[in-house]
Amino acid sequence: ALNRLQDTALFKTDSFIDGQWVSGQNRFPVDNPANRERLAEVADVGADGARRAIDAAEAAFVIWRKVSPFERAKLLHEWNRLILAHIDDLAVMITAEMGKPLAEAKGEILYGSAFIDWSAEEAKRLHGETLSVPMPGARGWTIRQPVGVVSCITPWNFPAAMITRKCAPALAAGCTMVVKPAPETPLTALALAELADRAGIPKGVFNVVCGEAEQIGPVLTGSKAVRLIGFTGSTEIGKLLMRQAADGVKRVALELGGNAPFIVMDDADVEAAATGVAQAKFRSGGQTCVSPNRILVQEGVADAFLDALETRIAAVRAGDGFDPDVQIGPLIHDEAVTRVDSLVRSAAQSGARVRVGGKSLAAELGGSFFAPTLIEGVGLDHELASGEIFGPVASVYRMTDEASIIKAANDTPYGLAAYLYTRDIGRVHRMSEALDYGMVGINAPMVGSASTPFGGVKESGIGREGGKWGVEEFTDLKYVLLAGV
Ligand code: ADP
Repeated sequence: ALNRLQDTALFKTDSFIDGQWVSGQNRFPVDNPANRERLAEVADVGADGARRAIDAAEAAFVIWRKVSPFERAKLLHEWNRLILAHIDDLAVMITAEMGKPLAEAKGEILYGSAFIDWSAEEAKRLHGETLSVPMPGARGWTIRQPVGVVSCITPWNFPAAMITRKCAPALAAGCTMVVKPAPETPLTALALAELADRAGIPKGVFNVVCGEAEQIGPVLTGSKAVRLIGFTGSTEIGKLLMRQAADGVKRVALELGGNAPFIVMDDADVEAAATGVAQAKFRSGGQTCVSPNRILVQEGVADAFLDALETRIAAVRAGDGFDPDVQIGPLIHDEAVTRVDSLVRSAAQSGARVRVGGKSLAAELGGSFFAPTLIEGVGLDHELASGEIFGPVASVYRMTDEASIIKAANDTPYGLAAYLYTRDIGRVHRMSEALDYGMVGINAPMVGSASTPFGGVKESGIGREGGKWGVEEFTDLKYVLLAGV
């Protein structure tokens, strides 16, 4: 797949530390999940590489924090310009590494790029305030300063956007970075590092280290120099990192799992709701933390909604993401297919009805594919409802009144995104306020954008990415008191 690259110098298999490409003793494989083709063997720089990267970031911080926000913005805009100039190559890498269709991969680059543009501008507006203070002859004010060295651990489902969403605001605020990308998708991350280098971002400011997480993770969380750990991934690993960060009282910014309810009320536009589910459910093959996980539909429109959704899901074609007629690619690996398959089987055995799909397509298509699936009649206590599906399975639950829908929607340790389809303005307010979620999309199947706060409550995480909040996340608020004026 990588023979499609126009700029082959973007294809890197070493880590990027202190402005240098650094190799390691061991290498790990990166495979295309659509056809099991070996794409690359990437160097594992291990704990030692992580230490060197932190040292470089620490040294670079002294300089970078003093670069004016206007100058930092210029460099970030140049990085962004190069990313957009190489959008086709970056999309090829994403599709090859994790499988999402090429058009969707380009969409991810545009989405991720918007965070660089936004953050570059926002950094110029990290203003302080003057305060009233109780003593006579004194003045008080606040300033915002970069937290210091930030380390980020990112997942494979958005190989580019999960990096830019953290790095752009951190770099804009004046922090320096060590990024550890997911082992499934290091190539996109390394290409971003190459472009940052070409953009003139100084050495040591942006480092990417690849290798075994169990070796690199504890170095990132244990280092005195690192002041903030940014993480997107599973709740389990998020909790582990939070525990490790506690020792050094480091700040954490965690974007963890979700169990998004997609609520369709009796008064909703049923066709729009079905379209919304189809769009939100199959993005990244259903492998996103904001994928609708429980589709809760009020009884009065359940039959019409299910028919409309069935038509749409039956039309979704799975296949190699380089095929322009394909709407969803493979799952990330074969284990993911096995896991989703056993969830669907167990639901069917417990009496649920599979209306579309419901099976692995691995043998048929030669990669880790699972058929776009519609299932109804699963119990809300089944693992398909209580856990994160992370696959292309839409599971619909028939519900009665507003109160029981809210109760069911909130009956989970997660609280990332919720979706609500209704045209009743009273319901819009009552239900959006009652849903224990960080984000609520009303008649909107997608919530993320560079200008708005993305993040969760409860076990879905801590902190917000995007908007002014995304940049503030990487700053400390300092209070200065001047007496004897
Ligand atoms: P997934 O199961 O979807 O891969 P993970 O939470 O395991 O989700 O992975 C997200 C990121 O966390 C990846 O970059 C992965 O390498 C990293 N990771 C996994 N285990 C650890 C760990 N023990 N310490 C630090 N990072 C880890």
